[in-house]
Amino acid sequence: MTPLILATCDTNDRQYYLGRAYARAIEHAGGALALALPSAAPSAAALIEGADGLFLTGGDDIHPRHYGEEIAPYYDGTIDEPRYELERALIAGALAKQIPIFGICLGLQSLNVYFGGTLHQDIRAQLPGALPHTLPAGAPRDTLAHPVAIREETRLAAIVGTGTIRVNSIHHQGIKRLAPNLLAAALAPDGLVEAVENPSYPFLLAVQWHPEELTAINPRWKKLFAAFVDATKNRP
Ligand code: MN
Repeated sequence: MTPLILATCDTNDRQYYLGRAYARAIEHAGGALALALPSAAPSAAALIEGADGLFLTGGDDIHPRHYGEEIAPYYDGTIDEPRYELERALIAGALAKQIPIFGICLGLQSLNVYFGGTLHQDIRAQLPGALPHTLPAGAPRDTLAHPVAIREETRLAAIVGTGTIRVNSIHHQGIKRLAPNLLAAALAPDGLVEAVENPSYPFLLAVQWHPEELTAINPRWKKLFAAFVDATKNRP
């Protein structure tokens, strides 16, 4: 049976939307996608009940009050409060049902905040020595920006292999303090945590880069989506 993957999606002032690359990557791996909109947050448990996996995609920022901070004077972004309220409810439901969770970009940040970690509200302002992590104006989303070192003996390494791989980077925020029950599975050369996982949960993995844009450049990223969709098929 085709597993049903529940995904969060992005928004602007006109529409909710899911980038085609996310959909293509999940569909090529054998999953079917359904989108959860923020108005469904109170019904998160019912949505999760019908889902085999939770896919947290990219989007706008989490309000810093969720990790105990005020909005910093240098903050220059867009906060999507309904989105985090939805993701929080979906993560809680997914954990209760023990279904696989895969996060990309904001998805990684949501998981870190959910589990008690904090974020840099703006990497450039807070880490002056950091590599550029945002996409240059006009550059395509598959532009390789910086390497990540994948740590040995992680789930991520078991899926895509160890070593140093160049990835794209489309984020102005990032993990400041890693949540206590998350493990750093990949690091950028400037020390930023670029992938996390929870080794004691059936499948919980998130990356800060956008592998859905890189499947044509490097086939190893297809394996990441395949591993997630396979985990949704083979749940304990
Ligand atoms: Mn990055």
